[in-house]
Amino acid sequence: MLSRLNGRLGFFIRNFGTASSKVSLPEKVRTLEKFAFKHFSHTINEVNGGLEDVLNKKVTLNGWINGSPRKMSKNLVFAAFRDFNGDFTQITAKGESVSQLLRTLKPEDALSVTGTVTVRKQKTDDQFKQWELVLEDLEVLNYSNEKASQLDSLKATPSQYPPEYRYLQLRQPFYQNALKMRSKAASIARSVFQSMNFTEIETPMLFKSTPEGAKEFLVPTRREGFFYALPQSPQQYKQILMASGFKGYYQIAKCFRDEDLRADRQPEFTQIDMEMSFAKSEDVQYVIQKLLTQIWNGVRHLPFYRIDPANEYAIVELKPGESFPKVNYMEALTSYGIDKPDLRATLSFKDISSFFGSQPLKRSDFPVIEACVLKNALNLVVKSPRNLFDKTNYSMRTPYIFKILCEDDLYRWFSKLPVDLVDADSASQLNRYLNLSVGDIVAVSDRSEIPYESPTPLGRFRQLAMQEYPTSWRRKVAGATEQPTQNDIFVASWLVNFPLFSPSEGDSIDGYPVYDFSNLESTHHPFTMVKLEDYDYLASNPLKAKGDHYDLVVNGVEVGGGSRRVHDAELQKFIFSNILKIDNYMGLFGHLLHALSSGCPPHAGLAIGFDRMCSMLLGSPTIRDVVAFPKTQAGTDPVVESPSTVPEKTLQTYHIGVKK
Ligand code: ASP
Repeated sequence: MLSRLNGRLGFFIRNFGTASSKVSLPEKVRTLEKFAFKHFSHTINEVNGGLEDVLNKKVTLNGWINGSPRKMSKNLVFAAFRDFNGDFTQITAKGESVSQLLRTLKPEDALSVTGTVTVRKQKTDDQFKQWELVLEDLEVLNYSNEKASQLDSLKATPSQYPPEYRYLQLRQPFYQNALKMRSKAASIARSVFQSMNFTEIETPMLFKSTPEGAKEFLVPTRREGFFYALPQSPQQYKQILMASGFKGYYQIAKCFRDEDLRADRQPEFTQIDMEMSFAKSEDVQYVIQKLLTQIWNGVRHLPFYRIDPANEYAIVELKPGESFPKVNYMEALTSYGIDKPDLRATLSFKDISSFFGSQPLKRSDFPVIEACVLKNALNLVVKSPRNLFDKTNYSMRTPYIFKILCEDDLYRWFSKLPVDLVDADSASQLNRYLNLSVGDIVAVSDRSEIPYESPTPLGRFRQLAMQEYPTSWRRKVAGATEQPTQNDIFVASWLVNFPLFSPSEGDSIDGYPVYDFSNLESTHHPFTMVKLEDYDYLASNPLKAKGDHYDLVVNGVEVGGGSRRVHDAELQKFIFSNILKIDNYMGLFGHLLHALSSGCPPHAGLAIGFDRMCSMLLGSPTIRDVVAFPKTQAGTDPVVESPSTVPEKTLQTYHIGVKK
């Protein structure tokens, strides 16, 4: 590419470069010193740190004007100055020529400033510490356009920031910090893997179209009818690398999924991807815990917590050498209604089916009736719990939700359910069982015996309750004199024993999912190994088989997921053909099957959602804050305006026609 470009430049110079030109350079460019600028001698932070040494001495700083200059008089102009580390100081122009230049400058002009570090006389704020730079020389390295000045006032409100000016937004300390933190996390990850003798290996971006779960992005080629697909993850290549004899592989990998950009997803995202040969699940879990502990420690200097084994209402720091606790899928679903429970809150559910003589609320295939009580929710001095009752917050059926406003409500709330209590005595027994009292909110819903919904309606209710009342029902740190803030508490666990297969899901009816039990899908991906104790279920009753899969869940977020893999080609074929009914599995996955049948060792691995992990470390609700150039909800990149159309002629080379 470079040589081609040089070739073109050569052409340009030969034909135009030597001709005498009547045009002159634009004035601003002529007067700019940007091409031979004074390089910084210090950063602002260095001056802050060694003030005594540089006081009354000359230094040069490089950076930007932060906001408009304040013009005090003809010969006195102040401006806030920000350097490339996001630190601030004040620059002061006193002499006539520098004052005249400084007063004409706008926010975000890039400067090299030279002056004397002087003790500040008027310390009206402590933003600029104790010194200012009294200017002797001011070089404009580049002017910012009008837009940069106009946007200056929007710095603090990123949601209103026009996304096409992302680069200006990224200049702000918040984003500088976010991306630096991401870079640090990546570098810790690399050093942890390297220290354990893993090999960093890049796998192709131009992959093959294979059904792996999500929709793929296709890449046309000049060979008619042939396409690449962008990888949803390096899953198949990393398994092939295990057949290639590598003991440990890792990669910070770009992945692509052409999915609805609901919630907090991006069509391209990054994984810390890893795989180990001659390894079982526990080996992977050990490495990943070590990795996470070092990242958390290196980036936030914070430990991980777990539920206190001695008191379920408290959490304790994980001891050195202690593993992240394991939570069973069924326990997570029945207690918290989701396969990624946020264990910072105590809220859990109780099965109340027996109080109703085991009649279903509505449908016999959803026979379990369960309840979740928000103690004292009505007495909390917070805004009304609007969201809990808002149907639009529930994608399936909304739970029945009751406010216990007075003593009488205790004896009638259940009468609004479509089922009757077994007998009159059951009311007080039920209230006692739920420990229900005036001032509480109780939610009731149903679920299937093995819940494939995640979250269940009650699980969603629990999530909303935690959002609505962020500090209530939180587990306290046992024995702490001062409780850490919620953003500094990270409770981690391994979610295990997922069903290996799930029934495929059709359109829902009345808020109930409809399952086709004759058509099974992999709960994660088709390469997941069965738990050895359930091996026989593969032939007799695949729905009963648990997968050797593990999700790493931190504060209700699935930070990573992985599994032991099927390393035997015959077993993998059986799963493709007999269970998943994939007819042309040789065409789709022949490459993997051949690799497995070439003496591929047992292997296991995992991938961490790197963007999500970084936004969690940053304490930000959105991954957009840790992605330099995120796509919009419509999948566009407003900075470069992609995707874009291409000329008809280009399309023809790819044998593609666009319908007009
Ligand atoms: N490839 C999987 C994913 O992207 C992770 C894994 O099983 O290693 O979810």
